[in-house]
Amino acid sequence: MSDLKQTGKTNLGDPVESGVNMIHIEQLYKSYRGFPALRGISLQVKKGEIYGFIGQNGAGKTTTMNILAGLSRPDAGLCLVNGRDIRRIRHPGDLHLGYLPEEPHFYPWLSARETLENLIGPIQRVDELLHWVGLSPAASRRVGGFSRGMRQRLGLAAALVHNPELLILDEPSSALDPEGRSDVLRLIRELRQMGKTILFSTHILSDVERVCDTVGIIASGEMILQQPMATISQKYIKPVFDIELIAPCPPDVCRQLQAGVPVLALEQHHNRLTATVNDAQDGSIWLMSQLAEARVAILSITRRGHNLEDIFIEEVNGHEKSPA
Ligand code: ATP
Repeated sequence: MSDLKQTGKTNLGDPVESGVNMIHIEQLYKSYRGFPALRGISLQVKKGEIYGFIGQNGAGKTTTMNILAGLSRPDAGLCLVNGRDIRRIRHPGDLHLGYLPEEPHFYPWLSARETLENLIGPIQRVDELLHWVGLSPAASRRVGGFSRGMRQRLGLAAALVHNPELLILDEPSSALDPEGRSDVLRLIRELRQMGKTILFSTHILSDVERVCDTVGIIASGEMILQQPMATISQKYIKPVFDIELIAPCPPDVCRQLQAGVPVLALEQHHNRLTATVNDAQDGSIWLMSQLAEARVAILSITRRGHNLEDIFIEEVNGHEKSPA
């Protein structure tokens, strides 16, 4: 493990201990003809974890991943991949990582097997990889006729040919149907079991909830949140009650409901109330008792969890509203 330990210097001059981080980014900047795509992002991916990198279109995910894969140079900042400073590498291959771009391109006239053999030679591992990604039945078919999902699986196999410890996957599941997405997520989980470290970007937040150990949110080239998924669940994911009433809730009753200790937020929309509470039991007792006391009739009450999508929207909106 000691080979992963490395002390570098940020562009601010502070010493940085990368510890057992497989990826360690500090204050990374990148502009395209004066447009700041990355504005000092910092992120850390620990060895053996699945890191979900999320952000809106144009937030800077691909720019970051291209830098990590050694395909593009940052303007400033520190970027260590598996302990190696990307500024010191001579060739992207020196980083020993597997990279799946958002739209992997292959020679359409080659078969799936020939595509992998082109990268590694005709060895048994090619058949194992094709089997693992579920492409054995299509191994001899030309890639030109492959569906998007099949190209994505072949891309995953191609990223794994050199058996790298670290995988960088740009939107590996976003364009797939639910079954294809489930398959790719299952493969990602299997990779973690094999001890690999995976950073993947996506727009589909339920995928992040399903597989990720850590979540990083990027907005306009800045990291606005980086937390373990378990912390997010504990700290941010609160119970929400949707209450349907026979008639709109009178304003004084709404004020009374909102004043209760368990209620964190209350919204009214026609006959519906949405109450976010800090504890499901205390919250439901408070809401029901207050409505009963005010003789407000309830049609239905449903409990749901505040999900990652709600948190993402709140964080990104909060970031956009805060002064630069
Ligand atoms: P998406 O989810 O749409 O792929 P993203 O988060 O991956 O978005 P990037 O592709 O990293 O975002 O783009 C970040 C910003 O940098 C965008 O405003 C984009 O237009 C700009 N950008 C990216 N690459 C280039 C380039 N080669 N030349 C000019 N501008 C670029």
